[in-house]
Amino acid sequence: MKNNKKSKHRLKRAFGYARRSPRKQLEDTSIEKQTEEIIKYCERNGIELVDIYTDDLKSAKSFDGRDAFKEMYNRTISKKENIDYIIVLKQDRISRDTLDTLYIMKRLNSLDKHLISIADNINTEDPKAEILVHIMSLVAQLEREFIAFRTNSGMEKKAEDGYFLGGKVFGYKTKDKELIIDPDEAKIVKYIFEKYAFNKWGYKKIASKLNIQGVQTKYNNEWTINSVKTILQNQIYIGNTKWREEYKKGQHSPIIEMSLWNKVKEVMQSRTYTPKKVHPGSYPLSGLLKCPQCGSSMVQGNSSQKYKYYQCSKNKNSGKKACSSNLIKKEYAEEFVQDKLITFLNEKNLSPIIYDVTKSNLSYELEPLEKEANNIKGKIQKHEEKLLTTIDLMSDTTLNLGGDLLKEKIVTHQEDINREKSKLESISKQLELKQSEHIKDIINFSVSNFKDFYLALSDTEKKKLVHSIIKEVHVTKGNKTQDRKIKSIIYNFDLNDLNKLVSE
Ligand SMILES: [Zn+2]
Repeated sequence: MKNNKKSKHRLKRAFGYARRSPRKQLEDTSIEKQTEEIIKYCERNGIELVDIYTDDLKSAKSFDGRDAFKEMYNRTISKKENIDYIIVLKQDRISRDTLDTLYIMKRLNSLDKHLISIADNINTEDPKAEILVHIMSLVAQLEREFIAFRTNSGMEKKAEDGYFLGGKVFGYKTKDKELIIDPDEAKIVKYIFEKYAFNKWGYKKIASKLNIQGVQTKYNNEWTINSVKTILQNQIYIGNTKWREEYKKGQHSPIIEMSLWNKVKEVMQSRTYTPKKVHPGSYPLSGLLKCPQCGSSMVQGNSSQKYKYYQCSKNKNSGKKACSSNLIKKEYAEEFVQDKLITFLNEKNLSPIIYDVTKSNLSYELEPLEKEANNIKGKIQKHEEKLLTTIDLMSDTTLNLGGDLLKEKIVTHQEDINREKSKLESISKQLELKQSEHIKDIINFSVSNFKDFYLALSDTEKKKLVHSIIKEVHVTKGNKTQDRKIKSIIYNFDLNDLNKLVSE
């Protein structure tokens, strides 16, 4: 694609960039397809495509290993190249990380160079482009987390009712997600508990005794210190089930009596000295809150279990001389910001914008998925035909073929069919979620039930989401902790620009 000729009327010059995403395998647009779209775009818009760079990466969280991108970027910002645009098919090709993308955008814009993302319909010559980039990263986040949330909440119901949620547990057989005691293995579980509690054997001794006796773990491995320890700490044996680090009364029969369980716990405590971990908890507003006195970021303060605060980072790192602590109550600050954020998202009615942006994006993801689904359907049909032929052969008594061999064949065909069907099922689910109407549901649901949705996220997810929407949170000055309140929240998008987008 090299073309360095310069015409008299200077055409706008561009580099194209294509990348294979490390995370999405199946639904990813191939580098060829990306390249093709970039070439077409340049032809349609009379842009001279100087070169196309590609990265095909195994993992790309940041810029590391993205040599082609780095080289292209450096050539773009150097004066002598005279490049006007970097063109990609989708903005997530630049980076999954919005901050990365925004940084690049801003750097390019300051040099009067721009980023064009074809599928997202973004050209950073348009000042509204920045908001779109933010919104899209928000959508991507909402979509990912909503799907996780929906899957989890179905499981939550089952877990609440005390059903076992899968996996193998030594001592039990699983049948339709129910735990049924395996008498032989249960004996071994009891043996482990008793040797530990009464004979005061250590993990290692128990493991080696079991190995000498030829007993294997559920996964047919040798016993280790860890696998013995896991058994001794698993509340399933006293009839509980675990969900999200919490135990509930299960539906299955226990193997170990409470008295033995408690004895083991006692021995464990007497043996191990572990300093109590101070759980730092999460401080989602770290870095966003700004100190009312010096303006630097506020971070997790010197909090106790009962009273938690954010504190000026300068004070925390350099002491009183640098700045005062300017503590603000964690609970108050987080609740306040959360409520404002929810109101903000509800009022803005982001759904239509998010939907529009997502829709054009999706068309590029649906195609390869549909292709794959059809491909699998074809395979299933072929397997089914073979299966029918085999059944015909078997029922034809005149042929007198080996029955066992045919039975075996039938089983193999059936297994092939099942395997393909489960693949198809997973693709169909993805397709279903990506069909526009579903996306609309997802977006509407996430926006209108933002609070439920938000509360269901893990601490890390909350932090990520809050940071993608909010830029800064200002705190009022005050002499005492309780005097300090949230003064204002500054969002990553400009509210007026956002209104313009909605009214357009
Ligand atoms: Zn300060």
